[in-house]
Amino acid sequence: RFYGTDASLQKEDSTTNGFKGHDMLAPFTAGWQSTDVHPLVIEKSEGSYVYDINGKKYLDSLSGLWCTALGGSEPRLVAAATAQLNTLPFYHSFWNRTTKPSLDLAKELLEMFTASKMAKVFFTNSGSEANDTQVKLVWYYNNALGRPNKKKFIARQKSYHGSTLIAASLSGLPALHQKFDLPAPFVLHTDCPHYWRYAHPGETEEEYSTRLAKNLEDLILKEGPETIAAFIAEPVMGAGGVIPPPATYFEKVQAVVKKYDILFIADEVICAFGRLGTMFGCDKYSIKPDLVSFAKALSSAYMPIGAILVSPEVSEVIHSQSNTLGSFSHGFTYSGHPVSCAVAIEALKIYKERNIVEQVNKIAPKFQDGVKAFSDSPIIGEIRGTGLILGTEFADNKSPNEPFPPEWGIGAYFGAQCEKHGMLVRVSGDNIMMSPPFIMSPAEVDELISKYGKALKATEERVKELKSQ
Ligand code: PMP
Repeated sequence: RFYGTDASLQKEDSTTNGFKGHDMLAPFTAGWQSTDVHPLVIEKSEGSYVYDINGKKYLDSLSGLWCTALGGSEPRLVAAATAQLNTLPFYHSFWNRTTKPSLDLAKELLEMFTASKMAKVFFTNSGSEANDTQVKLVWYYNNALGRPNKKKFIARQKSYHGSTLIAASLSGLPALHQKFDLPAPFVLHTDCPHYWRYAHPGETEEEYSTRLAKNLEDLILKEGPETIAAFIAEPVMGAGGVIPPPATYFEKVQAVVKKYDILFIADEVICAFGRLGTMFGCDKYSIKPDLVSFAKALSSAYMPIGAILVSPEVSEVIHSQSNTLGSFSHGFTYSGHPVSCAVAIEALKIYKERNIVEQVNKIAPKFQDGVKAFSDSPIIGEIRGTGLILGTEFADNKSPNEPFPPEWGIGAYFGAQCEKHGMLVRVSGDNIMMSPPFIMSPAEVDELISKYGKALKATEERVKELKSQ
């Protein structure tokens, strides 16, 4: 596995018991890793923990991939899947045929989401498919309205919207574009709203947000508002490094988008169902979207499922025009898969019954304050987050302009130290990300903070050593 440049740590890796490499072309995994170096093989999960094939226990600070909100052993989700598998393991939702779980889940989602009025739900298997569907839906909508030129999308630098062709294009991360001939030409990227990194000296958060809204408006005017179909944003940016918006950002950006008749798509794939301490990210930042994307915590990841919500205005146009354009000819064999829907219905029931938002708000301050207490570390540039999502960015002298040399592998070293101490985090360059399960106990939050502290101490030593060489 990738341990930065520290060969000694690689030798300590005995977790896979001689299980060398594997036959998978693994997602987001460097080629050499899958052939020469041991993968970490996870075998079992239990609450906030996962275990590898040697029985080593890890606190799963990322909830799998920001998704197992109810942790790794919720019997009600297993029972819901089993019951559905025993009744109807599969039927599709094409040509006006469907299943009860998909109808029930659609109804439930429309009732739960109140940030703006929504009329319809379309099911997918993933967040990427949800965002791809958004693009096709918006194109269909503008074709139906006789606006064939209103087709461009504006997303933000450092955003993550998935890895299929269109979702990767929307994403604002160079690694998703390079060598893939992306982004597609109809996607434009505007500023990443990261105050610490990009604000001018002396600029307040509000002033910074005003400047970004102005930049967005300038981009729209330069391209021609009649060519811009939609703007897509995560309420809190996730994979780009956990970046909560600066004060008044969404208020100002929404005003611009509205002014030019541009649809607002909220990518709630990470934020929805309680993670930010509100049921939806849109609730937290008063976002009134036209379209919303969900996945991950929708089923607490026990079965793959994604969904999009469609506003009454957009769905009405689609329905009223579908005689001339034909049907909305888009969908997946597994759109509204009954087992996935049954699990999602049960997950939503649990969120409600256990008052998940309150539960998140109970442990979030301990988690946020506990980790942010390390902000003074000389190797940390910024720790940022809200609710149960948190990012750490390493930097020298607290400066966004003084990153450590990439070949030092500081983020990777920290990640390896966490792993050594029995905790899994997400590493992306010198960014560390955590999004614990909503069910984490206060004692587990203490454990997370303690392990983070140990890994940080070792990483500080490592930086000292590297600087002295
Ligand atoms: N949108 C966001 C905000 C995400 O974080 C992700 C996945 N991390 C996606 C979309 C894509 O979801 P999936 O991996 O299920 O395709």
